[in-house]
Amino acid sequence: MQKTSLLVAFSLLLFASNSFGQQAPPQPSLEKINQQSITETIKFLASDELAGRDTPSPGLDKASSFVADRFKKAGLDPLGTDGTFFQTTTKATAQAPRSATLSNDGQPLKTLGVLSANQTQFKHAGPITLVDAKQLANQKFTGPVTIVAPPFNQRSSNNSFTSLLKQLAQQGATACLVQVAPKHRLIGRSFRASQLHLVDEFKGLEGPVILIPPAKLGNVTIDLAKQVNGSAVVKNVIGVLRGNDPDLAKQAIIFSAHLDHIGIGVANPTGDKINNGADDDASGVTAVLTLADAYAANPIKPKRSVIFMTFWGEERGLLGSRHYAADPTWPLQDTIANLNLEMLGRPEPGAHGKTWMTGWNQSDLGKLMEQGAQQAGVLVFEHPRFSSMLYRQSDNWPLAEKGVIAHSFSAGSLHKDYHQPTDEWDRLRLDHMTKVIKGLFAGSLPIANGEATPAKSANRRPGQPLVPIQKPPFKAPKEL
Ligand SMILES: [Zn+2]
Repeated sequence: MQKTSLLVAFSLLLFASNSFGQQAPPQPSLEKINQQSITETIKFLASDELAGRDTPSPGLDKASSFVADRFKKAGLDPLGTDGTFFQTTTKATAQAPRSATLSNDGQPLKTLGVLSANQTQFKHAGPITLVDAKQLANQKFTGPVTIVAPPFNQRSSNNSFTSLLKQLAQQGATACLVQVAPKHRLIGRSFRASQLHLVDEFKGLEGPVILIPPAKLGNVTIDLAKQVNGSAVVKNVIGVLRGNDPDLAKQAIIFSAHLDHIGIGVANPTGDKINNGADDDASGVTAVLTLADAYAANPIKPKRSVIFMTFWGEERGLLGSRHYAADPTWPLQDTIANLNLEMLGRPEPGAHGKTWMTGWNQSDLGKLMEQGAQQAGVLVFEHPRFSSMLYRQSDNWPLAEKGVIAHSFSAGSLHKDYHQPTDEWDRLRLDHMTKVIKGLFAGSLPIANGEATPAKSANRRPGQPLVPIQKPPFKAPKEL
């Protein structure tokens, strides 16, 4: 749709009202949600200059400063620590050596990467046990073991790999050689498995975790230098647009997205090794920044306060959002809803200009958003697979665990460029993203204005794992 016809459409909508009876989104706000500025923002966030925004990294620090500047320009008040936009914390880090010296029956054995090391130098000489990862029950180990890593592509499998290492440790393994096929996804992880990974993800196994090519192992020697310990400062970025109603301003809704991504990995066939994370999750951050501009441009301030936030360390296990949930800068009991935005730029076939919400049945937030979003012609729906599968996989979850109505909104799927150097900004559907952001604005406005208040579902099942529903293929919801 062309810009002029959009303007006409939204001018007409100004006079319409939705089922809550409130006016449609104001024009100055909608003008802030335009494809040109969205493109400029995401081009920067997903640029090589930020080197994939790893936690921690200079690229992520630069991105945090950019977000804080934008919050300031939008006119938000700082809501970090000490009157700044930053909620900073210091994390212990550990850096594994990049390679180990290995041999197998006297022949040198190649190292494909080191995922984890020890506090001290690690040495082993002797036979090594091949362990079948599927038949671990009741086995006991007394030294290093080797496993053949299964092929996997998704984050859920990363979690099972971490649990496998923990189980090996509990059963006595002191180190693990992981045999991986060429291009196995763990190889990409190894060179960025420095720092927080070792501390937060692989702490189950105290000994080293070393990647090697498939090999029949006999007498193996391992010589690995110790890890280098240090610390890093990491930051959530938080700003608030205070509400204009004396009572309702104490309540807030939070728009959030994770600013971090997975940094630099191994080069793909084109030689690109920067995981730019355009969709994951520069698209969500761009939406947070654009929504801040739109809310701030509203001539009448919303009655409730609106908080805008970006997290560090999502890719390391929801670390930034866990930190916020444990030490919130706005009382959680006055946090009406968290709308976390994840991967908005790559719609599935048939889902152009639409967005789905995770944990659909946990509250009526999806239904409320759907009613408002219709003002912008955007459908908010329950995805048959991902709405339940991904409810606990993003930064909404630490807040949901604390009892806040917290959901993620997304527009796509785990596409082939997910966590790859090819997740670039020019592969995004920016027209679709623009439309969805308008929908999120129109959808949330009645809540920000105090005309609607989301409620938890009576029939939700807290604490019960949400089992992924396998209902492929994805069927696009009906066009509006
Ligand atoms: Zn993400």
